[in-house]
Amino acid sequence: MKVAFFNTKSYDRQSFNAANQQHQHEIVFFESHLSHETVSLAIGFPAVCIFINDNLNADMLATLAQGGTKLIALRSAGFNHVDLAAVTKLEMTIVRVPAYSPYAVAEHAIALILSLNRKVHRAYNRVREGNFSIEGLLGFDLYGATVGVIGTGRIGAIFAQIMCGFGCKLLGYDTYQDPNCLELGMEYVAIDELFAKSDIISLHCPLTPDTHHLIDIEAIAKMKTGTMLINTSRGGLIDTQAAIDGLKSGAIGYLGIDVYEQEADLFFEDLSNQVIQDDTFQRLLTFPNVIVTGHQAFFTSQALANIAETTLSNISEFEQSESCVNEVKIETAIAPK
Ligand code: NAD
Repeated sequence: MKVAFFNTKSYDRQSFNAANQQHQHEIVFFESHLSHETVSLAIGFPAVCIFINDNLNADMLATLAQGGTKLIALRSAGFNHVDLAAVTKLEMTIVRVPAYSPYAVAEHAIALILSLNRKVHRAYNRVREGNFSIEGLLGFDLYGATVGVIGTGRIGAIFAQIMCGFGCKLLGYDTYQDPNCLELGMEYVAIDELFAKSDIISLHCPLTPDTHHLIDIEAIAKMKTGTMLINTSRGGLIDTQAAIDGLKSGAIGYLGIDVYEQEADLFFEDLSNQVIQDDTFQRLLTFPNVIVTGHQAFFTSQALANIAETTLSNISEFEQSESCVNEVKIETAIAPK
C-alpha cells in the first residue's frame, strides 16, 4: 500500500525500512509535520502515518479524505490528538499501536524517580565542576515508601511490579483492578486516599476529557507535603501552573515529567539556537527538584522495532480486509481496555 509518513526522524526511517522488508509497502518518508502547509503531500496516498505531535483535527481529516486517504496509521498508543468523531463521520479508519514496550515507559518513570530522589542530575554537574560537596543531595530509601499508581493498565502494572521489587507499598487507582497488581499486594483505593497516602504518585492513565487536569490545585492540596509526582503519560493530565504553584509552596517536593501540556511546540526538535517563548515551561526548568525529558520514555530499540512491525501489520491487515484489530473507535476512547 502507498503510505505517506509524516514527521519522521532518522530513527523512524531506520526501523520502518527494516520492518518493511517483510511487508513491502510503498513508503514515502516526509520530515515535515502534518500541517495545513504540508497536507497536500498526502494527496493520492490511501494511507497516512503520523506521530503524537501531528494534530488531526476535523479540518485536517476532511482535507486528507478529499485527497483520497482512507487509513490513518498512528505510530503511537495514545490517540488524544485525533478527532475521532470526525474520523467516523468521514468513514475513515484509524489504527494504532496499543502496546509496543510497556517496559520502556515504566523503566523511564523509574529513571525519573531515582534521579530526582538521589539528585543524580545535580551530582553529575557538581562532580564535573570539581565540586564534591554532598550538601543538598540527601535522598530517601525507596524501600518502605508508598507509591500511588494512577492507571494500572499495561504500563502501570509493569511500573508497579518494579516498584514492588524496591520494597514499596503499592496503592492503585483505576476503574479496573488488575489481577497481577492485586497479586503484588496493591491496594486499590479512592483517588483522594491515594493522594493523601502516597510518597510518590505516578500517572499511567490515558488523557481523556475525564482525566484532563486530573492533577490540579485541589488534587495537590490533598497530597502529602513534599510528594514526588511523575508523569510519563500525557501532559494534559497535569495543570502545569498548579504544579508550579505546588513546587513553589513545597507541596510538591519533586516533579519528573516526560510529557508536557504544550509539548507539541517544543518536543522532538532541536531548539537550542532559539529563544523558547513558553514562559511556563521555562519556569519549570528553574526548579532544582524538577526533571523534564522530551517525551523519550518510549524510546528503546525494542519499542521502535515493535512500533514499526505493528504499524506495518496494521496497514497490511487493512489493505487485505478493510478492517484491523488495532482500529481505534470512539468506544475505545471511552473504555481504553
Ligand atoms: P492501558 O490502556 O493499558 O492502561 C491505561 C489504564 O488507565 C487502564 O487500566 C484504564 O482502565 C485506566 N484508566 C482509564 N481512565 C482512567 C481514569 N479516569 N482514572 C484512572 N485510570 C483510568 O495504557 P498503557 O499502555 O498502560 O499506556 C498508558 C498511557 O501511557 C497511554 O495512555 C499513553 O498516553 C502513555 N504513553 C506514554 C509514552 C511515552 O513515551 N511517554 C509511551 C506510551 C504510552
